[in-house]
Amino acid sequence: MGMRRGNGAGGVCIALMALVGCSISGMVDRVTGEDVNRQVRAQGLPAHATVLEIWDTGVKVNDDPVIGFRLEVHAEGRPPWVGETKALVSLIHIPRVQPGATLPVRYDPAEPSRIALASEEERELEPAAGTILPTGPVRIDDDLFVEPIADGVWLHTSYLQLERFGNTPANGLVVVAGRDAALIDTPWTDDQTRRLITWVAERQQASINTVVVTHSHQDCAGGLRAAHRAGARSYGLARTAELAEARGAEPPQVRFTDRLDIQLSGRSLELRFMGPGHTEDTIVVWLPDVQVLFGGCLVRSAAATTLGYTAEADLARWPATIEALQKRYGQARLIVPGHGRPGGAELLAHTLDLLRERQ
Ligand SMILES: [Zn+2]
Repeated sequence: MGMRRGNGAGGVCIALMALVGCSISGMVDRVTGEDVNRQVRAQGLPAHATVLEIWDTGVKVNDDPVIGFRLEVHAEGRPPWVGETKALVSLIHIPRVQPGATLPVRYDPAEPSRIALASEEERELEPAAGTILPTGPVRIDDDLFVEPIADGVWLHTSYLQLERFGNTPANGLVVVAGRDAALIDTPWTDDQTRRLITWVAERQQASINTVVVTHSHQDCAGGLRAAHRAGARSYGLARTAELAEARGAEPPQVRFTDRLDIQLSGRSLELRFMGPGHTEDTIVVWLPDVQVLFGGCLVRSAAATTLGYTAEADLARWPATIEALQKRYGQARLIVPGHGRPGGAELLAHTLDLLRERQ
């Protein structure tokens, strides 16, 4: 840990001041940043942050240092941003907050530069809550991120500026099996898809030869042309191909009507149409070896307060489709929604709640 901004020997020794009997708690809060942190924790929204840099502020409280943090924050519905905060960290926890670590944080939605680490209790609880985010998101570019979520399975998240929804993230998966890899949904654009294909080639030494699109919209299939140019074979519902063609968009090549299993060097991808919902052509993909369900736009994230884009949705039949998913995949280890953070079966229940509110 460098002394980038420390005041070294002149550091404030609060333990000593406690001995001389100052009225210190307000002052401790100010020098440790706890006064601001407490407000942000109480009112802010949860997010994850990757530690970019830490430094010793020179302030200590009973031997524990106040550490400065430069963080890259990843929150629902916003592009990642970089900000700073400070926190009192127990000496024994310092190994856990080194650069590269992912930490739960809260941020002020009105002023996202106000960031606080989650309370130490919350940080302790985090792994037990089943979050499978060992390293956190990896930035490829400002509009493209990948994050390991299971053995050989990466979440990819790309961002596109939309008139109605602002800078909007969309999820897909990269499934790696030896030298082969599959994309479950492309990023929004051909350009992002090319960059993702390059990342997989360079960092995973694998080539994307299989692409599945889970419906015809741009957040799933917008990079299909780039994937085809790179030599991948694509799969989708016959209805998805029709809808894409009708819009003049690139359609998937191999078409099916209900279910299809794809083998990828020993791994299987189970493509299933479970019923209409977000659109009439939205499928899910089940990865049986790691028990991960890619729910796509049928499934809303825990932080979602709306059903998203519903102009083409079948709101009447969507609930039955979610119930079918609960029955078949309720035990999934991880469920990945089309937009927002992955979670467990609670995402299915939350989607049902949102649907019932609409009726
Ligand atoms: Zn869609």
